[in-house]
Amino acid sequence: MRARANTYNTVVFQFFRTIHEVFRPHWTAPGVPDIDCARLAAHGIRGVMLDLDNTLAPWRSPAIFPGVAAWIAQAKACGLRACIVTNAGSAARVRPIADSLAIPWVTRALKPLAGGYRRGMALLGTAPDSTAMIGDMLLTDIIGANRLGLFTVLVEPKSAREALPARLVQRPLERLIGRKPRLAR
Ligand SMILES: [Mg+2]
Repeated sequence: MRARANTYNTVVFQFFRTIHEVFRPHWTAPGVPDIDCARLAAHGIRGVMLDLDNTLAPWRSPAIFPGVAAWIAQAKACGLRACIVTNAGSAARVRPIADSLAIPWVTRALKPLAGGYRRGMALLGTAPDSTAMIGDMLLTDIIGANRLGLFTVLVEPKSAREALPARLVQRPLERLIGRKPRLAR
């Protein structure tokens, strides 16, 4: 009986630990411009990878959100390198935005799989423990980065306009899991 109770406790404990370590970002923020670069640097972060759609710019739009360009400049001044890591497949979509921010980029990242984050870290010359992933999607941007041991920051999607799978599957699941941070920002 006790063995069964212990097994149950272990399974429940593991479940919540997994929720905590995989499904929780370290920080949450309303948007990219609200993230404190100096505090990221103080956490030992040297490189930031940024999602594109609904993080830097509206879905399918070339117009970056207000404050993003200034934030990238501020991040560079804090000694952080930055790049875009997006699941979008079109270089024509990503290049003008990346060029306007003067940062490199990765397309077809296939987040939450590891490959795209690794390509991003290769561009930045950073290791998982000195890299942050910033994105609006818990189930792609954040869980993939958490599994690799990156520092993660979940921002609020700025628009309800996004790809159909995101609206029909990912956002409802996110609402179930919750968008809670591990640490106070
Ligand atoms: Mg996104």
